[in-house]
Amino acid sequence: MAILMDGKILAAEKMAALKTRVDALKEKGAGVGLAVILVGDDPASQVYVRNKGKACEELGILSETLRMPRETTQDELEAAIDRYNRDERVSGILVQLPLPRHLDEKRALARILPQKDVDGFHIANAGKLFTGQEGVVACTPKGILYMLKACGVPLSGREAVVIGRSNIVGKPIAMLLLNENCTVTICHSRTADLAAHTRRADILIAAVGKPRFVTADMVKPGAAVVDVGINRVDGKVVGDVDFENVEKVAGYISPVPGGVGKMTICMLMENTVEAAERKGQ
Ligand code: NDP
Repeated sequence: MAILMDGKILAAEKMAALKTRVDALKEKGAGVGLAVILVGDDPASQVYVRNKGKACEELGILSETLRMPRETTQDELEAAIDRYNRDERVSGILVQLPLPRHLDEKRALARILPQKDVDGFHIANAGKLFTGQEGVVACTPKGILYMLKACGVPLSGREAVVIGRSNIVGKPIAMLLLNENCTVTICHSRTADLAAHTRRADILIAAVGKPRFVTADMVKPGAAVVDVGINRVDGKVVGDVDFENVEKVAGYISPVPGGVGKMTICMLMENTVEAAERKGQ
């Protein structure tokens, strides 16, 4: 039976450590705060934004959510971003994705000051990750790496296979694992014989967005399997991994819910705290 990579336990430990850092910042009078801009009324986004607010509250971080109507224009959105760029109370800015289709996501993300881009999606931060420079790392990949390390999963020299090549999960986690000296393969919807790749993986990251996509026969015995997926099936949240059967083969496995999602919020908090610490230096 696989060892559970328990996001709830890891996140609780991390949040306690972050609380100490927040208290130290506040003692110095440094502004530590997260501004979230939410455009429209996407139900999943509402839940994510609420959870981010709760995490800020737990740490005593200032949290401000700007709710803008669906018909917000690009200029109005960018003006709101500019206001938070100038706001000394705010160390981190996050534009909740997806934006309504008439808005240009790339332009909006590029408008955030890179040092306040706590999602790590600004092209300057993505570029830094890809060129081995220090910058803000996107929360989900950062959380995955944190989880693997905290659970003692060996990385250097191991085969890592990432299913998914999105800018927010697949590509950045592949880069982080490469930086840890893994030998990395990125798979996607056009990959021929996906299972032949996944069966080689000592570390398998599933970021596909398809419920229970990774089955036990695709997993190498003893592998560390990280499930990034959040899929709603019959009102229940399930991951991209067939947990029940894969846990019998894997060496380590992360659950959904209670796995990567918890780490993602935690890393958002860390990025917000780090942004405030950098400003104070
Ligand atoms: P995207 O839809 O952007 O990417 C999905 C990737 O999966 C694509 O690269 C796609 O390939 C690949 N894919 C789709 N079908 C197959 C297939 N049959 N075989 C191999 N690869 C396939 O999703 P995201 O990266 O944004 O998110 C992935 C999942 O993670 C979602 O369930 C999302 O909800 C969840 N998520 C969870 C987070 C958390 O905090 N836990 C944070 C962010 C996302 P191609 O590029 O060829 O289309």
